[in-house]
Amino acid sequence: MKQIMEYLHQKVPKAGKTFPAYFQRALATSEIGIALYFVLTFIVLYMTKHRIEWTVILVFAAMLACRYSIGRINVRLSFYAFEAVIIFWCAWHTQHVGWEYGAQHLLIPMLMLCFFNIYEPPTWKVLTFFAVLAYRTFLFSYAQTIPTGYELGPTMTILYQSLNTLAVFNTLAICFVTFSSSIQENERQLLLNNQALHKEAGTDALTQLPNRRALLDEVTRFRKEQPDQAFSIAIADIDFFKKVNDTYGHNCGDYTLQTLAALFRDSSEGRYTVCRWGGEEFCFFLPGMNIDEAGVVMQDLNFAVKKMPLHFGDLDFSITITVGVEENDFRSSMEELFDQADRKLYMGKANGRNQVVI
Ligand code: GH3
Ligand code: MG
Ligand code: MG
Repeated sequence: MKQIMEYLHQKVPKAGKTFPAYFQRALATSEIGIALYFVLTFIVLYMTKHRIEWTVILVFAAMLACRYSIGRINVRLSFYAFEAVIIFWCAWHTQHVGWEYGAQHLLIPMLMLCFFNIYEPPTWKVLTFFAVLAYRTFLFSYAQTIPTGYELGPTMTILYQSLNTLAVFNTLAICFVTFSSSIQENERQLLLNNQALHKEAGTDALTQLPNRRALLDEVTRFRKEQPDQAFSIAIADIDFFKKVNDTYGHNCGDYTLQTLAALFRDSSEGRYTVCRWGGEEFCFFLPGMNIDEAGVVMQDLNFAVKKMPLHFGDLDFSITITVGVEENDFRSSMEELFDQADRKLYMGKANGRNQVVI
């Protein structure tokens, strides 16, 4: 009951001239399919009585007009006209050809299209449902009271029944394929977008390294999944970076950060995760390493940075870094751990920079 009420109170987007492409596609293809069905029906009826059924020509032309009006006039109008043609066709067919050939089943795909139209209010869809039900029941009752219009003979009856069934199944198949592939495609796009957004939210725009949040997430996950496993963290800060900016310009500072980030990333070999911690600071997460092992890795990096040649325009220069390393002691919180690494970093700065403090 709750679900029904929620369905009925769904908000409907304003139609305007924009219809979802999948609905337009399903409607256009269905209209072409049914126009073709009218052509075949005309042939069957003509072959039986050698009489030209002008009404069939009329509904054929109307169906083509529906198809034509989609792109030029309005999808919504085309759909209403489509509904009108089907409703009229069911009545005419019952009256003049007969109930037993099954043309009235075209009401089913019509109803399906109506339900897939996101711009129709749900209450309208439910009303249409009951109206179609009542209409079909009325047609059936009416068919009992009138003589059969066309006597097609056994072979033609089977053929014509099959044609009607084909028209119904074909329209249903068009709807199923269009709507299900559209839903799957939308879902696929949504998942890809979510993945891209998630990645973007955890990536630093300048260096393309993970950002502080992504690294903290990784450390938190590691502590949760492997609570007994050792790990270390290290914070590295460029020495006198302000001077690089002030002397060579901000762009050169950016270039330095990017080159340094690339060096850190390329030297990792799966031993650590590095992130841009903020400004000209980088943070390393070294899973499975105690402070001595992490110290060796950071010493190597400190050395590699010192040797790293930097070229910006005509400028050739180099930089150094100071690093504070801390090992997880299984007691301290994450904040305490990072604070401790930071304290060591500042000890290194006070002690003359360009060093690793463990
Ligand atoms: P210290 O050796 O004590 O670390 O000195 P420092 O000059 O590196 O430290 P300070 O904190 O005074 O300066 C850091 C500078 O980093 C200041 C800021 O302009 C620069 N900076 C931070 N983020 C960026 C960035 O994204 N691009 C550039 N070009 N500079 C940045
Ligand atoms: Mg700093
Ligand atoms: Mg600095």
